[in-house]
Amino acid sequence: MNLVLMGLPGAGKGTQAERIIKEFHIPHISTGDIFRAAIKNQTEMGKKAKSYIDAGNLVPDEVTNGIVQERLSKDDVKDGFMLDGFPRNLVQAEALNKMLADTDRKLDAVINIHVSPDVLVDRLSARFICKNCGATYNKLYRKPKVEGTCDNCGGHEFYQRDDDKPETVKNRLDVNIKLNTPLVDFYKKQGVLHNINGEQDIDKVYADVRQVLTSLQ
Ligand code: ADP
Ligand code: AMP
Repeated sequence: MNLVLMGLPGAGKGTQAERIIKEFHIPHISTGDIFRAAIKNQTEMGKKAKSYIDAGNLVPDEVTNGIVQERLSKDDVKDGFMLDGFPRNLVQAEALNKMLADTDRKLDAVINIHVSPDVLVDRLSARFICKNCGATYNKLYRKPKVEGTCDNCGGHEFYQRDDDKPETVKNRLDVNIKLNTPLVDFYKKQGVLHNINGEQDIDKVYADVRQVLTSLQ
């Protein structure tokens, strides 16, 4: 299955991706994760991307498209992939269609997790992440079962993303809200869009996502 997980920052893409990977074993490609790894490793690309990410802006399309094109050329995604956080605008969506058409592939589904922007500010401010395995938690909505211990790997260290701090969250949301509607329309026209209500609890959101994915198998 060739999938795109779409939704505003904080909609729950990463949270749902963790579950999809466990059940469907689809390789997960998160452009945000790729950028964060590049920043951590201080690569040239990471240095270029950092100023955009810190301000809550998009990294330029030519950089982002290049990364995705390279990742989609690897062997492990020949039978399917799940893009998360890409595409984020029409230029990227057109570029993705071309990358796939050039390699005789197409998108099977775009899962659009819809959450209203008011809810997202709270979600992002309360997000924290396991330092060891990257599992995502929330001080308000999804605490680890044992306080201070990651459910997934047993790790004890967590961090807050720099771009989840209040001064960045607002611009990130504004930038993405503007771009989201044209993207939703683009995939609706293409006949691959599946809207999911992301304001339900995490298990219920997953039940809805799962229903779409099983219908595609
Ligand atoms: P995204 O990858 O779309 O930016 P995340 O999956 O990281 O979003 O989720 C953002 C925050 O909201 C995290 O702290 C996560 O635990 C929490 N969260 C995810 N889905 C839900 C949900 N359905 N209800 C409440 N909180 C959620
Ligand atoms: P995310 O983890 O998806 O919230 O992404 C974190 C940040 O990485 C975003 O705020 C952008 O600065 C950058 N980023 C991630 N994906 C893209 C993309 N498709 N296009 C441009 N910038 C991106």
